[in-house]
Amino acid sequence: MLPDDLRTALDADRSSDAAALFTDIVVRYFEQTGRGDGPVSSTAGHPERRPSFDDALPTDGQPLSAVAARIEREFLGGANRLSHPMYMGHQVAAPLPAPVWTEAVIAALNNSIAVSEMSPTGTLVEERVIQWMCGLAGFGAGSGGTLTSGGLEATHTALLAARAALDPESWKRGLTGPNPVLVCGEHAHYAISRAAGELGLGTDNVRVVPSTNWKMDIEALEATLDTIAAEGRRVLAVVATAGHTATGSIDDLRAIGALCDARGLWMHVDGAHGASALFSATHAPRLRGIERARTITWDPHKMMLLPLAAGALIARDERDLSAAFSQQAPYLFHGTEGARSPDQGTRSFMCSRRADALKVWVALQRYGASGIGALYDHVCSLAAALHQMIGERAEFAALHVPESNILCFRWLPAGVHDDATLDWLNQRLRERYNASGRGWITSTVLDGRRVLRVTMMNPRTQDAHVAELLDGLAAEGEGLLSEPA
Ligand SMILES: *Cc1c(COP(=O)(O)O)cnc(C)c1O
Repeated sequence: MLPDDLRTALDADRSSDAAALFTDIVVRYFEQTGRGDGPVSSTAGHPERRPSFDDALPTDGQPLSAVAARIEREFLGGANRLSHPMYMGHQVAAPLPAPVWTEAVIAALNNSIAVSEMSPTGTLVEERVIQWMCGLAGFGAGSGGTLTSGGLEATHTALLAARAALDPESWKRGLTGPNPVLVCGEHAHYAISRAAGELGLGTDNVRVVPSTNWKMDIEALEATLDTIAAEGRRVLAVVATAGHTATGSIDDLRAIGALCDARGLWMHVDGAHGASALFSATHAPRLRGIERARTITWDPHKMMLLPLAAGALIARDERDLSAAFSQQAPYLFHGTEGARSPDQGTRSFMCSRRADALKVWVALQRYGASGIGALYDHVCSLAAALHQMIGERAEFAALHVPESNILCFRWLPAGVHDDATLDWLNQRLRERYNASGRGWITSTVLDGRRVLRVTMMNPRTQDAHVAELLDGLAAEGEGLLSEPA
């Protein structure tokens, strides 16, 4: 028997008053950040104010209102506020509101996607969302896929499928003989080399193709494939990137796809960031050739602006995914031999799994494919606006023309010409700017030089905020130069 006070607490916590304690926090957060109120990182300039959460294990429960108050004061109080229009940092969205509310429904129902009998509607919604994505990518009948925790899992799974196609015995026997080679670009995400390690291929067997203009150089790819063939080695897959992490640039998928087709190679497209361009009539042409891929990584939690986590892997031939996991589990999966299993768990790295597909479905029902496309266009237009404003200011220089919503640039204060000093100054400027609470940006290293980097992931950010970014950086830069040495 449950203790009385516990039963009373569970009953009370199911009420709309209880729900409002939480939804009101989110509504206040949306309102404040929507107005651009307050600092972007809440303890900016005052790290000593960051809550420590070092209290002892609570033996007894407390009123829900006290717990909610602590969430708002301490958890939110010390968090980065991605919904603030001056947040221009990593590739994590200021999430669209309707999918945020959907999270509670997913959690409340808790239907696991592993097995269709455990998630009758969740499985259908996931299949529908995957089919929409396959359609946008130009995949036809027989295509399929699975939602994933993100791009890392999707890429791992795609390369596992490629391994099964190349060496069907590898599941049972492990990899034997000279390992195949995995080919990717110089600026590919670490997901690729990590998968090579995870799959027993070995990171030594990753061949890196140099970039031109931050994308895979096609002549160099051809030369690399010739060398591998001359060595008598097999190619596991060629990984192209649609939306490079550092610069947002997009590989020439048509050219890479044509080379792979001619040589019978598996092309995987890492479109974790950029595949959502398929929603935009303006930007989709940058992805021409994506339909030649065998598999595509595509993160709705990136450029569809969904809350974490919602990643996806789609495959031109869904059977490639079940072949990746030659898993027998009679207590779970009841598919008949040879027939398509209705259980998504047969095609997924995960077993118990949330119905994250519902968030994707809700975003599309509420805002439409055209709305998602318009959001993609908007955040890309902000990077283009920044590029133009930088061109008009002597103290900044852009490193590239933005192809999506990412831009790398460098602060070049007058009179400083030494690259090492500029590296240090750019690093310090980013730290100082973020600590000021004015905004939040990232930095990276391009061609050996420290640069500033922004990713536009917030529908509320406007051109005026972009101008404010440069003004803020200039002001913090002046402060930095006048710091005592
Ligand atoms: C973000 C990203 C990944 C990793 O995806 P996660 O969802 O963070 O696991 C892989 N590749 C590219 C190109 C990315 O931008």
